[in-house]
Amino acid sequence: MRIHSANSRLLSRDRLLSRDRQGAVAALLTCLFLLAPAFAQTPFSGTPAIEQSLEKLTVLGSVLMIAAHPDDENTAILAYYARGRHMRTGYLSLTRGEGGQNLIGPEQGDLLGLIRSQELLAARRIDGAEQYFTRAIDFGFSKTPEETLEKWGRERILSDVVWVIRRFRPDVVILRFSGTPRDGHGQHQVSAILGKEAFAAAGDPSRFPEQLKFVEPWKARRLLFNSFSFTKEMEKDAAETPGRIEVDTGAYNPVLGVSYSQIAGMSRSMHRSQGMGASQRPGPSRQFLVPVAGDAPAKDAKDAFDGIDTTWNRLPGGAETGRILAEAVRTFEPDHPERTIPLLLKARAQIATIHDPWASDKLVELNEAIALCAGLWLDANTDSYAVAPGATVEVGYTALNRSVFPMVLDSLTLEGMGGASRTDAHRAALESNQPVNAQLKFAVPADQPYSQPFWLREPKQGDTYTISDQRMVGLPDDPPLLNLRFGLEAGGVAFDLLRPVRHRYVDRVDGEQTRALTVVPPVALNLPQDVVLFPSGDARQVAIQVRADVPKVAGDVRLALDAGWSAEPVSRNFEQAQAAQQQALTFAVTPAKGVDPPAQLRGVAHVGGREIGVGMQVISHPPLPPLTVFPPAVVKLVRADVRVTARKVGYVMGAGDEMPDAIRQLGCDVTLLTASDLEQRGLSEFDVIVTGVRAYNTRADLRVNLPRLLDYVHNGGKLIDQYNVTDANLVPMGPYPFKVGHDRVTVEEAPVTFTNLGNPLLSTPNEITQKDFEGWIQERGLYFASEWDARYQTVLESHDPGEKPLAGGMLYARYGKGVYIFSGYAWFRELPAGVAGAYRLFANMLSAH
Ligand SMILES: [Zn+2]
Repeated sequence: MRIHSANSRLLSRDRLLSRDRQGAVAALLTCLFLLAPAFAQTPFSGTPAIEQSLEKLTVLGSVLMIAAHPDDENTAILAYYARGRHMRTGYLSLTRGEGGQNLIGPEQGDLLGLIRSQELLAARRIDGAEQYFTRAIDFGFSKTPEETLEKWGRERILSDVVWVIRRFRPDVVILRFSGTPRDGHGQHQVSAILGKEAFAAAGDPSRFPEQLKFVEPWKARRLLFNSFSFTKEMEKDAAETPGRIEVDTGAYNPVLGVSYSQIAGMSRSMHRSQGMGASQRPGPSRQFLVPVAGDAPAKDAKDAFDGIDTTWNRLPGGAETGRILAEAVRTFEPDHPERTIPLLLKARAQIATIHDPWASDKLVELNEAIALCAGLWLDANTDSYAVAPGATVEVGYTALNRSVFPMVLDSLTLEGMGGASRTDAHRAALESNQPVNAQLKFAVPADQPYSQPFWLREPKQGDTYTISDQRMVGLPDDPPLLNLRFGLEAGGVAFDLLRPVRHRYVDRVDGEQTRALTVVPPVALNLPQDVVLFPSGDARQVAIQVRADVPKVAGDVRLALDAGWSAEPVSRNFEQAQAAQQQALTFAVTPAKGVDPPAQLRGVAHVGGREIGVGMQVISHPPLPPLTVFPPAVVKLVRADVRVTARKVGYVMGAGDEMPDAIRQLGCDVTLLTASDLEQRGLSEFDVIVTGVRAYNTRADLRVNLPRLLDYVHNGGKLIDQYNVTDANLVPMGPYPFKVGHDRVTVEEAPVTFTNLGNPLLSTPNEITQKDFEGWIQERGLYFASEWDARYQTVLESHDPGEKPLAGGMLYARYGKGVYIFSGYAWFRELPAGVAGAYRLFANMLSAH
């Protein structure tokens, strides 16, 4: 069963525009068709879904939680207010979590942010809240709020928080952090600092007046702080704060058959890329909310909404509606949900006369409640998920009334790309359980952009996304490209329901699946790597994969190169008969004289007058929907003098990183070592073995076979361990004792000094200088060693401004005839990004003796 989900529902509503402004900005309304609601699977269906929906119609209260990252939210509080109190509930995460580590795949940065956005949406489908983001990018760990605010731009992100508050119009705002150093991470502190400022600024028309074209100022009533309770002491602290309000999220919901904390466990377990699988603890669970600003709750108040009217009485003329809807709840019969429809239609007529954003919201919810009571199945389906600009799509629709309540399908309107096209020619009575279906044709506009996620379409500004359409700011995801609006009639009352046009198909293993309609280029240019390293002045072969997205395409591909660089041949032709065919076109690229700065190569395909400069990447991490992005067909060309003596490299992949390809750039032959390799294979064939990031945390086979690896070193091999976190799985690494700590150097420009000038890692075969530490990204390193045996030599020292020197980022020891190296420097970030100096230093590690 599909029920209307709360996610992105503000899109469909007129919350954006108060009634009196609608005339003035009527032109915008057509654009709002783009902003359609999302429909999603929820864990509840049938009677529980209807009861949730009817109860929700009676409540006009809202609460917005604000924090910094995916995983900072308190899913128990969200579930309690959304599923238990039927409030409109939202979570604003300042960032999409781009800077964290990915436990389910190699994706980093933008792609990780994309995955986390979907994980949060999946979590919200379970706990019932809505999801929002600002333009801020998680740039990695930050020790101070000052650094964070400087990287994001204080006014820019403040304006986004104000915007989300003005759109969402919460009665109560809940912060997860205090805005003090107690919060740790600078981004955590900033979420509370900006949350407090925005709470005041959202109601002030002189702040961010440019937003008032779309929204009105909004004064939330109350600001509360819900602190983390990691320890018994913290919980005791919160429990003893004067004026605090206690919420028991362990309360049992007999209709849903779970407590809110149990829902929270399910919701939290959707944060798969962060490994947040959580238990569903039944029984009591105390949460505390402490007043920060706004109207204080009455002394000894038991409820965060104390003194706030969350009923229909808050709207002029709303009382009668409230009475009818309460009757609908009271008289609902699970065996005969259709008997509730007349009351809903009666309430609908009342609500339609009330001019308030709440009423517009509730009308959409009410339409969906009618659909649930009638078991109405409305579907719009295409036979392929991918369409090219200018193509015609066949949209098959089905309308099925699974109740005995008489209904009529009155009109169908396709909304989305290029505006709306209405057809009235489909008027049909919906007889009980008799489907009405047919096909509609839709022409995709020739200038329709490819379906790149909206926040990735324009170049970033430092550590923020560029989103030029104000109305898209805050949204978690693109609205569906195309929607079908079903105009219906029941009991003489017209109402409508919007459904996204999707591709529905059957997978032999996973059964019926749906996939979002996606606009794709006729061909995609996929480049096997983001960076090509030229360790000498010689030409290198660069291959471009040309993949047809539609049948029968032909054209040519050229490379656009920076001055001084050249490619041979100038262009290559391709011709493909079928979609999904692939062809590799190879060019010999010769670098310019001299070693810097990095240059750029752009692939450009010409197909029938159209110029295409993008690739296409599908990210698949079930149960998330497949995600499609169109990265520019651009490669960074790095000319750096890098010598390496190692040839055969064994790599033990850990949590996932892009190091093997980076090492191949040096001309090395890299083998990924499996569990059976670690157990049985002769390792002496490898010049060096490298373990991936968090390999000891994630691979039991590596932990068990560590003695074999140390034997290999003793017999003349080389072992390089990268960073691991100090979790319960971590075993002592290396031939001699050392302890992994929590020290990290987050400032990527932090000075690096040499602690042992004679160490071969600083000179062989590449002479390392200060220049090799220029141009690093995100951070210097993390989880450095905090203590080590005297048999280790340190090599480098670095630390954040004002902090103590850290020499544990690189340890070197000879062991038997071989060499062991531990390094917490962020090679897994720097090498894939093409940082020349990092390549030179890592080449020395591979070549160590
Ligand atoms: Zn966080």
